[in-house]
Amino acid sequence: MLITHGRIATFGQNPQVIEDGAICLADDQIIAVGPTAELRARYPEAEQLDAKGQLIMPGSICAHTHFYGAFARGMAIPGAPARNFVEILQKLWWRLDRALDEESIRLSALVCLVDAIRNGTTTLIDHHASPNLIDGSLDLCADAIVQSGLRVCECYEVTDRNGPEGAQAGIVENVRFAKLLAARPNPLLAASFGLHASFTIGPETLDRCVAEAKSLDIGFHIHVAEGDADEIDSQTKYGQRVGEHLNAKGVLGEKTLSAHCVHVNQNEINLLAKTDTKVSHQPRSNMNNAVGTTPVQKMLDAGVCVGLGNDGFSNNMYTEMKAAYLVHKAVANDPRAMSGDTVTRLAYENNAHIASLFWPRPIGVIEPGAYADLVFLDHAPYTPLTAGNLPWQIIFGLDGTHITTTIVGGKVLMRDRVLLTLDEERIAAQAREIAPQVWQRFEEISLNEG
Ligand SMILES: [Zn+2]
Repeated sequence: MLITHGRIATFGQNPQVIEDGAICLADDQIIAVGPTAELRARYPEAEQLDAKGQLIMPGSICAHTHFYGAFARGMAIPGAPARNFVEILQKLWWRLDRALDEESIRLSALVCLVDAIRNGTTTLIDHHASPNLIDGSLDLCADAIVQSGLRVCECYEVTDRNGPEGAQAGIVENVRFAKLLAARPNPLLAASFGLHASFTIGPETLDRCVAEAKSLDIGFHIHVAEGDADEIDSQTKYGQRVGEHLNAKGVLGEKTLSAHCVHVNQNEINLLAKTDTKVSHQPRSNMNNAVGTTPVQKMLDAGVCVGLGNDGFSNNMYTEMKAAYLVHKAVANDPRAMSGDTVTRLAYENNAHIASLFWPRPIGVIEPGAYADLVFLDHAPYTPLTAGNLPWQIIFGLDGTHITTTIVGGKVLMRDRVLLTLDEERIAAQAREIAPQVWQRFEEISLNEG
């Protein structure tokens, strides 16, 4: 396929904005990028898709999300409002995950995938939990992902908070899913080894996870020092900071993705850098949970690869970029904090580096050899748009609502705002139908726990 007449923002090592540009796709990758006239002459037989002057960019990447949390939207939480992060987990997420059954896991994934296609987020790294249906839960997610056509890495969050059987079932699910993908690879799917967080996983369970992940040669996806409770727990139990404890246990490493890292100190930052552990920053979630603000600049200065995720907030990564741009300025009382080009470094360059842990070809860049994961935006800025000012054009001008067309691996998933792989209205209707049941189970669990 030959995409013609686009204004192409390439990103990558040598970022360019190509006016009246074209992109030639073959199979799931990009094979040529250049002026429309030139590529039309070179590929006269190719089927053409006219972008009609729209902006074409790489699809967004989300480095950390939770599809399973979808039914939290609009849900009432009984009792007094949570006073801190641990109470938010106890009163909301650790009850909602137990209310999920087969149908609600499937629909949680589907509604998030619809939202991702609409907002042009083409690669996501998901962290799943459903303690009452662990075995096969990642297959339910994977079926929805393959149907959607998006690119997603899955894992199951191991924790000791649901007893030893729950922990063991989580380990087995991670191993089962990773082995399944190794035996039957699908270019849209990938696996990592999910861990909830240090403060809900005892040392014996952690040792078993490390042994299994090592034998599978996969990395971990874990929440690190999201709230100060994680640090306090680690210091009380092990006399070590969370980062030190996880490093001693063999959890940190170049294939490991650690979400949040809000409360890490300089020594832990140095450990993250030394082990080449990847970090994902979720500014909207951090603000919502009132946990503090991730020391992103300190980590970047130390050489840590920090990307951007949404932690289950909307899959509009342009909104997450805006949040990152604003919150660090407000907290630092310094307008120089978190510059626009730092934001796009997180969202594109570093997220692409994180995605490269799971997929062999380049993602997040428009160049020959990269996956053909592209979005069209019907946005015509009223000031010049250049490779130099693109970060600020994105932050102040772009939004998920501008996305008209979403392409993953050369396949068109949405064209002119019409979804082609998922039946959006039917999925929403089914979700609305079962939501009261999920909420009722949630309420019963809440009442039982008082
Ligand atoms: Zn999370």
